[in-house]
Amino acid sequence: MKKLMAANWKMYKTRTEASETAAALAKALSGRIPEKREVLVIPPFTAISTVVDALAGAPGFSVGAQNFYPSAQGAFTGEICPDQLLDLGCSFALTGHSERRHILGETDEMVGRKTTFGLRAGLKIILCVGETIEERRTGKVEEILLGQLRVGTADIPTSIKAESLTIAYEPVWAIGTGEVAQPADIITAHAFVRRTILELFPEVGADIRILYGGSVKPGNCSEIVNLDNVDGVLVGGAGLEAGSLTDIVLA
Ligand code: PEP
Repeated sequence: MKKLMAANWKMYKTRTEASETAAALAKALSGRIPEKREVLVIPPFTAISTVVDALAGAPGFSVGAQNFYPSAQGAFTGEICPDQLLDLGCSFALTGHSERRHILGETDEMVGRKTTFGLRAGLKIILCVGETIEERRTGKVEEILLGQLRVGTADIPTSIKAESLTIAYEPVWAIGTGEVAQPADIITAHAFVRRTILELFPEVGADIRILYGGSVKPGNCSEIVNLDNVDGVLVGGAGLEAGSLTDIVLA
């Protein structure tokens, strides 16, 4: 299984900035991406096409989207559908990112609808799950993860291909805060996610990747990515600059 090193650029970068960062990344990592790693860049919608062009011909890279609407097409003003993303050259998309759950009010049910629809449409989906600090303080980590995983994958056939679905464990309190989960907490949470996905997907659960996300940086990536059941990282802030993302990919 290759480790997935993913950078979520959120609502940052114009097309020019995105193109420059992607080109610098392709140059810095040319011939250097380890065989057991792959790199995923997740720009804002407006820069997807630009980044696909900038990374064309660079082996080891994929491009993803941060969001989509779970419908084939239609009167959904302001939304984007999976076919439009595939048409741009996207192969991955996020669902359930904590900023969409907590700022934009997406429910577990909506995340589940998106996950199932995106997979059926042919996107590889990274389903993000994670607890708030309040839920951690009150001992609810496993309850929250179980609910988000069960509802988030409720309508996915158990015959799914392992590489189509990735889970990202992202404790909400560690996203964009500089506060990283302790290795022991990451190991415990990832072991729980693994047990749960093995129950939900007995045939392929062992091969479904589980990423860690939450203030990953060049200085802490190596330790995190080598923990048990950590099959890659999802990076926000530290993935915006080509130099820092290069160090993370090579960590
Ligand atoms: C994220 O947005 O998924 C994330 C992990 O952000 P950061 O690395 O900035 O905490």
